[in-house]
Amino acid sequence: MKIFKPDFYLKNIFSLTPEFCKNNGIKALLLDADNTLCIYHTNYPVDGVLEWISKMQQADIKLYILSNSKPERLKIFAKNVNLPYFYMSLKPLPFKTLKAVKALGFDKQEVALVGDQLFTDVLGGKFAGIRTIWLDYIREEESKFFKFKRKIEKRIKKNLKRSDV
Ligand SMILES: [Mg+2]
Repeated sequence: MKIFKPDFYLKNIFSLTPEFCKNNGIKALLLDADNTLCIYHTNYPVDGVLEWISKMQQADIKLYILSNSKPERLKIFAKNVNLPYFYMSLKPLPFKTLKAVKALGFDKQEVALVGDQLFTDVLGGKFAGIRTIWLDYIREEESKFFKFKRKIEKRIKKNLKRSDV
């Protein structure tokens, strides 16, 4: 189904380079936090993320966190990576994502939503009418519901071609 097809599918955040953004006319990224920049429910980015952030910023790619997390927790993480953030974004609902795009002053086609989950990030970007970049998750979650979602994602990924290989 087209709604579940991201515009790009990459291995991880490090495959997302300034060149990739420039080649695709992307000026700003709305970044998911959990399992995209950090291990689920931790407050620190995984190794290399801080360097990745400064590399992207040096290339004038604007970065923002757009997470479904609650403000108390996201505030701490955002401070640790020193990025502006939008909390409780209710992805896949499009309203807060669209509000973020508008607040940042970008056109929809200049922004991409980056994340590890099909049912929140990819679907959220689709509903908001912005491009989506789907990444493999950093670490598998424990809950049964998550395992179920990951199983469906795996099936869909089987038919996708990664843009970074
Ligand atoms: Mg996530």
